[in-house]
Amino acid sequence: MKRYDVVVVGGGFAGIGSALASARSGAKTLIVDKSNCFGGASVNSLVNPFMPFCTKIGEEYLLLSQGIFLEIHKKLKERGSIKGMGFLEEDLKFLINDMMIDADVDIMFNSYLSSVENVNGKIKSVTFATKGGQVTVEGDYFIDATGDAMLASLAGVPTVLGREGDNLCQPMTLCFRVGNVDVERFMKGRDNLSKAYTKAFNEGKFINPREDILVFKTPIPNVLNFNTTRVVKFSPIDAVEVTQAEIIARKQVKEIFDFMKEHACGFENAFLMMTAHEIGVRESRQIVGDYVLTEKDCRNFTIFEDAITACNYDIDIHNPEGSGTSHYYFPEGKFYTIPYRSLIPKTVENMLVAGRCISSDHGAQASYRVMSTVCNIGEAAGTAIGLAVKNKSSVREIDVKKLQTVLKSNGAFIGL
Ligand SMILES: Cc1cc2nc3c(=O)[nH]c(=O)nc-3n(C[C@H](O)[C@H](O)[C@H](O)COP(=O)(O)OP(=O)(O)OC[C@H]3O[C@@H](n4cnc5c(N)ncnc54)[C@H](O)[C@@H]3O)c2cc1C
Repeated sequence: MKRYDVVVVGGGFAGIGSALASARSGAKTLIVDKSNCFGGASVNSLVNPFMPFCTKIGEEYLLLSQGIFLEIHKKLKERGSIKGMGFLEEDLKFLINDMMIDADVDIMFNSYLSSVENVNGKIKSVTFATKGGQVTVEGDYFIDATGDAMLASLAGVPTVLGREGDNLCQPMTLCFRVGNVDVERFMKGRDNLSKAYTKAFNEGKFINPREDILVFKTPIPNVLNFNTTRVVKFSPIDAVEVTQAEIIARKQVKEIFDFMKEHACGFENAFLMMTAHEIGVRESRQIVGDYVLTEKDCRNFTIFEDAITACNYDIDIHNPEGSGTSHYYFPEGKFYTIPYRSLIPKTVENMLVAGRCISSDHGAQASYRVMSTVCNIGEAAGTAIGLAVKNKSSVREIDVKKLQTVLKSNGAFIGL
């Protein structure tokens, strides 16, 4: 049986930040993902682009996501793989493979976490379902970067689902890509298309409850990325319900594509290139950690003493019940921070959680869930675990001031 200092489960932006930071701090690190590449939702669910991650203070722009995320961003830019905020996920896959290999991270793809051995609040090993059967890996420390808090949940850590009261999560969305679009004409015709959409929507012509068409340009000529399907009230952690959601979302893709063929400018020769491999999940389980980050903390621009990163992406809530999307935009120059305690799960001493499933309420999650910030959270988790490995301490016992100093000296912005 293989044994590591640190095992990271999940290779999305949170897992990427986690594994790179952990390995760079000298810990022997393994990262495992159920898919065949890095990128998480950006590759599995075609989530694109990066959302803005800066704020203006006086005449200066302050980048709130620096560290490993900025390193990735710069490297993609140097390769010509970013246009605007859109990026080529195929290039991301190459880049992250190289970065992991350079950092001496061991990688195991196509492996689905299926069980966890937790002995008195300490995880001893994790087991994956693979083509070769069950594979068990031992570790001293673990990072749950599965997005769904799957490792934490299997370890018996308390979790919550969705918003308080009714446990509904933000909608799931199957993104899709359309090729051979005359993008310039499409953009010029957006207003008319929106009017036609609203009319058809009000006449009940769509099964999709989304109020408008959400679309982003990509760096690929003549290709648009649509983030516009919406499936509500299905549980993102129940296989049967997720399957139903995938089927409904695919019907929505067809109805909106057919509608645009008829009504959108520049769509004369357009074709449906691809739908995502997996329906996108904005929100699912959150761990209950040592601190529950709240929407109120975000709106109060809270700077925590144990801050590990900062964020100002808007509180962007796609209605969990149907139509409508609400936004709270942070004023210029304002941001909030994320405390280290929100990464520490209750009841387990040798694991941290990184990504969209840290300890928070529904409103806070609607903001920090973006790829730039989850990568920062991952970097903090990997760095913290690196310190724990050196001191053989529990994740609660690490020196948070030291963590902050190391993060800053590695180029991260933590809001302090
Ligand atoms: C439709 C949609 C649109 C969005 N739009 C944007 C946007 O425009 N810009 C933006 O920045 N953010 C956007 N987001 C949010 C953002 O994409 C996610 O919140 C973010 O990518 C989450 O990163 P993560 O690393 O926490 O999780 P993920 O990216 O989901 O990564 C988790 C990884 O864990 C792996 N995994 C899960 N379970 C297991 C298991 N049991 N065994 C092994 N591996 C496992 C998965 O394969 C995956 O690679 C959007 C999200 C959605 C769903």
